Amino acid sequence: MALDELSRTALEHFAQPDLVRHLLGRLRQMMAADNAAILLAADNADYLTIYSVEGPEEEVSEQVRVPIGEGVAGTIYATQAPLLVDDLTTVPVANPFLREHLRSLIGVPLVVHGRAIGALHVDSVRPSHFNKDDVPFVQAIANRIALAVDHARLYQLAQAARHEAEARTRQVDAIFEAMTDAVFVMDREGRVLRMNAAAHKLLGLAEPDEYYARPIQERSLATATLDAEGHPLPADVWPTQRILSGEVLTGDKAVDITVRRSDGELVMLAITGAPIRDESGAIVASVSICRDVTERRKLELRTRESLDALLQMAQTLVTLPADLPAAADSLTSLVGEESEQPAVEHRIAHQLAVLTSEVVGCQRVGIMAVKPETERLHAIAVVGLTPEQETRWWAEQRQHEAQGARFGDGADPDQVARLRAGETFTLDMTQPPYNEQANPYGITTMLVAPMRAADELVGILTLDFGGPPHVMTADEIALTGAVAQLGAVVLERDRLLRERARAEAHVLALQEAQRTMDSFLGVAGHELKTPLTTSVASSQLAMRRLQALTAAIHGLDASVAETLEPLIAPLEKLIERMSVAARRQGRLVDDLLDVSRIQSGRLELQRQPLDMRQLVAEVVEEQRLHHPRRTLLLRLPNTEARVLADPDRIGQAVTNLLTNALKYSSSDAPVAVQVRIQGGAVQVRVRDRGPGIPADEQPHVWDRFHRVPGVEVQSGSGVGLGLGLYITREIVERHGGEVGVTSAPGTGSTFWFSLPFADPDCSA
Ligand code: ADP
Repeated sequence: MALDELSRTALEHFAQPDLVRHLLGRLRQMMAADNAAILLAADNADYLTIYSVEGPEEEVSEQVRVPIGEGVAGTIYATQAPLLVDDLTTVPVANPFLREHLRSLIGVPLVVHGRAIGALHVDSVRPSHFNKDDVPFVQAIANRIALAVDHARLYQLAQAARHEAEARTRQVDAIFEAMTDAVFVMDREGRVLRMNAAAHKLLGLAEPDEYYARPIQERSLATATLDAEGHPLPADVWPTQRILSGEVLTGDKAVDITVRRSDGELVMLAITGAPIRDESGAIVASVSICRDVTERRKLELRTRESLDALLQMAQTLVTLPADLPAAADSLTSLVGEESEQPAVEHRIAHQLAVLTSEVVGCQRVGIMAVKPETERLHAIAVVGLTPEQETRWWAEQRQHEAQGARFGDGADPDQVARLRAGETFTLDMTQPPYNEQANPYGITTMLVAPMRAADELVGILTLDFGGPPHVMTADEIALTGAVAQLGAVVLERDRLLRERARAEAHVLALQEAQRTMDSFLGVAGHELKTPLTTSVASSQLAMRRLQALTAAIHGLDASVAETLEPLIAPLEKLIERMSVAARRQGRLVDDLLDVSRIQSGRLELQRQPLDMRQLVAEVVEEQRLHHPRRTLLLRLPNTEARVLADPDRIGQAVTNLLTNALKYSSSDAPVAVQVRIQGGAVQVRVRDRGPGIPADEQPHVWDRFHRVPGVEVQSGSGVGLGLGLYITREIVERHGGEVGVTSAPGTGSTFWFSLPFADPDCSA
């Protein structure tokens, strides 16, 4: 009866922990006891705590902790055996409360399927209140309670698990919806069981659910699904089908497809996914994740195109334009023919503009050259305009140029400074102040990039995308800046190439003129030489005849001689002057002929060992005869100054230096000649007290036909052609020697040359 009553209670109070407390209450009542308690082993712990209590022990229920194997409950739990205590003062207790307030008890283990889960004890304030016969009854109650507690526990666990599962589902749902990639879960027939917000958006379907509830075969009829190359993809190889047949598409197995959305737009998707299996491993569904890679693929394509175009630009840099004359061949056509040049420049600029529009992907590109010296603007290319617009554009540009438009004219000084500093920027033409300016080409956003070569502005590149205002990305701006830079290099290189070609042409033309001149000199020299030789010879002959006549006159009657002599004397002077003039002209012609020989490589040297002391002394002696009133000092070394040289030519060199020294200094100034041996060379030095030569002129005195401005012939006679020093240098250098001059205005000059010293012991 008691058990029945308890069972009823159990049915009435299913919910925990009410049930257990009621059971305990009934038990206490039935046993006429004062206290009843249930202790359970805490999870993974080595002690028991009070789970439920009816009676005074309630007061301490929170604090009680009974170690397993100790005290009343700990012993019952550990031994799984009932315990009857008649007098609590005689047994050890874990909970002192029991001993203080109660005297006897009966306790039994709580066991479920042979596993102890805790202990139950019923207590009385009186000693020996319970007897052995009570044990089976209390144990029977305890068995029921154990089951109830265990069920309650399981129920709680199940509840907790369900709550957690729900929380997880909510979490997964939130993630599922928040994912930016489209996610589809499909059943075996390819019907869409679930899809997230991104999936709806991706497909742009008005009634996506209705459409996707259809089996895949049906859907395949309505959708164009293409592979990465744009070929139609049969439904049985759609990624979903592959997943449903067990494939896992992840990482590099991701599949690229293109689908046509309901609005007709093509979307490129990268699809990954995996099958969902039930416990038995059978595939029940598929989950596929679709990432919209349209932009990325487009970007990749653009990057590839840009790279190709950039490569072409680089190619332009390294290959010479086909129509640019390769130096010598058509140089003459370039020189003086200015009209040829802009055509080349324009073709290159046009090519550059086309490449720029390809690289940047813009609609229109204009290129203006900036002349470095004058900063004049000069339009050189435009692409992307209609033929009418282009005609108009060029007309406008030519008009600006005719007005002498310069870089920065009328522009915002801030922008001018930015361009100079190499910055690329955009102008919103729909905003003030630009929206008030005439805009015949309907530009909305204009990008302006400086073209600079070696830090100098050589051009301006402008471009626009046409259509509605275009927000340029930092990448586009950077790319355009780089393209403009590259373009500047191409243009500048082209300009330099042309300049080089022109310079080379000038050099060639000069050489040509020189050559013509040399051959003229050669011919003319010989033509002049013959009559000169004749006139020198004739004047000498005339002189001798006159001298013979004079001698004959002396033998005549004194009065006759006196009459004739005054008539003959002026004749003698006349003939003398004639012969000097003829000799001087002869020397000039000799110089011209020498130059002609040098130029044509016909200057021949008859080398022989000779002592420079002797040679120089002879030249000095000869000059002393010609200039008896000049002071000519000579210093020679004691040892032989031997060289291997052509005595006539080296003599000519010494004569040139010496006659210059005499010629360019006043007739009362001395000229000093010195021969010395120095460091393996024989040096001849000629010093004068003439006007001196400025430092910047000194290197040029050795050039052909060069004469130092301001230096006049001071004594003696004869105009110079500016050839003597040139011939001297040629002669000396042909002997392996060197020439030089040290001079300063006002202090005179020392001209010198040196020849390799020929050691007599070593001469073979
Ligand atoms: P030139 O026949 O004119 O003298 P050179 O070739 O001998 O030709 O000399 C070139 C020029 O160098 C001369 O015209 C003169 O201006 C300058 N020059 C040569 N020697 C001297 C000198 N000793 N003092 C000053 N100037 C000189």
